[in-house]
Amino acid sequence: MQTDLTGKTALVTGGTGGIGAAICKQLAESGAKVTTNYRNEEKAQAFKKEMQDAGLDVHIYQVDVTDTEGCRKMVEDIENNVGPIDIVVNNAGITKDTTLRKMTKEQWDQVMRINLDSLYNICQPIVEGMTSRGWGRIVNISSINGQKGQIGQTNYTTTKAGMHGFTMSLAQEVARKGVTVNSVSPGYIATDMVMAVPEEIREKIIAQIPVGRLGTPEEIAAIITFICSDHAGFITGADISVNGGQHMM
Ligand code: NAP
Repeated sequence: MQTDLTGKTALVTGGTGGIGAAICKQLAESGAKVTTNYRNEEKAQAFKKEMQDAGLDVHIYQVDVTDTEGCRKMVEDIENNVGPIDIVVNNAGITKDTTLRKMTKEQWDQVMRINLDSLYNICQPIVEGMTSRGWGRIVNISSINGQKGQIGQTNYTTTKAGMHGFTMSLAQEVARKGVTVNSVSPGYIATDMVMAVPEEIREKIIAQIPVGRLGTPEEIAAIITFICSDHAGFITGADISVNGGQHMM
């Protein structure tokens, strides 16, 4: 089975990060015209070089996903200069971990703004175009911890569980118009963030994963590329776990 996304335009938020870069790469390798946004200029330059070295052309925009007007302008710019957006992957996200007892309002708010407000800021200006053209794919990157909860993450897990509420509601709003909306919930993935955890703690995490290892960004990108293809038109409103068996629902 070939996943051919030739002619489709994709927007992946936070594409310069560990999982985002793998998603951008696989969507571009499948033929899509890929765009992404970022905040950190240094990481963006490294990302640009990585894509160029792989022979891939990815358009990048310095826009914060919490900036409603900035996102609206970015969507307009992409649609005018690259093409109408057919695929959205809401991947940008942060953690600000601490127990609720110690959590500041700022730590709570930052995670809400970036992980949840971004869904409105990105999808609202795009969804009408998708439904009027009769084809679209929206994928929201949630988390295993949004499914099972995690000590020290009341802010993060609230957003990741909330993301799936957004997925199910929007999926119902657009189902008859050829647009699917799904969540993907990764378990522990070997990105810089997880590899920075001290080795002994990482070993304890791995011991809880039945397959006996961390996942790779490419394994997350592979399921997303499939969801974005024509083969996945009957999958909508789903929350797809990719966690090595760590949490079975
Ligand atoms: P990462 O390497 O830290 O990447 C996060 C990306 O989001 C970065 O490119 C970052 O760009 C971008 N971002 C953050 N805040 C932003 C903002 N306000 N505006 C625009 N871009 C912003 O993290 P990752 O591990 O690849 O995670 C990607 C997604 O997967 C996240 O939603 C995360 O919650 C989820 N996830 C990850 C794991 C895991 O094990 N790694 C597990 C479950 C779920 P800048 O650096 O430029 O800000």
